[in-house]
Amino acid sequence: MTVADTLVRLQEVDLELLKHASTLSAMPQRKRLQTIELAARKVATELKGIVGQRKDAETEIADAEEALAHYREKTVEVQAAADAGEHTHREIRDFEQQLTSLAKRIEKSEYTLRPLREQLERLERAERNARATSERLEAERTATEAALADGSSSLRAEIVRLSNERSDLAGRLAPELLERYEVARKRFKGLAVERLHGNVPSVCRVKLQPSQFHDLSQSEEITECPYCHRILITSEEE
Ligand SMILES: [Zn+2]
Repeated sequence: MTVADTLVRLQEVDLELLKHASTLSAMPQRKRLQTIELAARKVATELKGIVGQRKDAETEIADAEEALAHYREKTVEVQAAADAGEHTHREIRDFEQQLTSLAKRIEKSEYTLRPLREQLERLERAERNARATSERLEAERTATEAALADGSSSLRAEIVRLSNERSDLAGRLAPELLERYEVARKRFKGLAVERLHGNVPSVCRVKLQPSQFHDLSQSEEITECPYCHRILITSEEE
């Protein structure tokens, strides 16, 4: 392989590597994985909020139940005291007042508890749904990752093969020429090298004047295009 051919092949390999990298990043599973990630984060945030609210509701219910139990206990005590022995008229009126007041409190506690329990049920349902969604997303993530690995394995193997070939080709070029190629590759977005076909360079395709063509045919095999300043190979392909 001549130096010129090595250079041309290096460019081909680099262009193929670029194409493969873009194919790999454009695989539909990647887009899907991003969507799954966003959805999973959203569900996690929602779940955190729901769990917080559910715990608050549980605390409120426990407090209300404790108060209710206390009033019921108190009612039993007052009732027992009222039932025990003889009482004055005034004492009986006091017991009745206490019992009425306790009954009101019990009613109020029960009245408070009903919507709290309903709210708790709603929150528990929402929590179950969020957890189910989260599990479904994780399963989908695993399946998509497997599909991506599966679908891209041949492409990855090809990228490894091309990368090895690239190292081999680069190692065969003089460091100065390789450096010149790398600079031109960045400047010309991959198309750094062109070859003369007749009197037309292969990339910029600006026909050379007879005098330029004459000068170039006298110069080095690897030179610079007078128009686009890419690396120009003046020899024809073998
Ligand atoms: Zn050119």
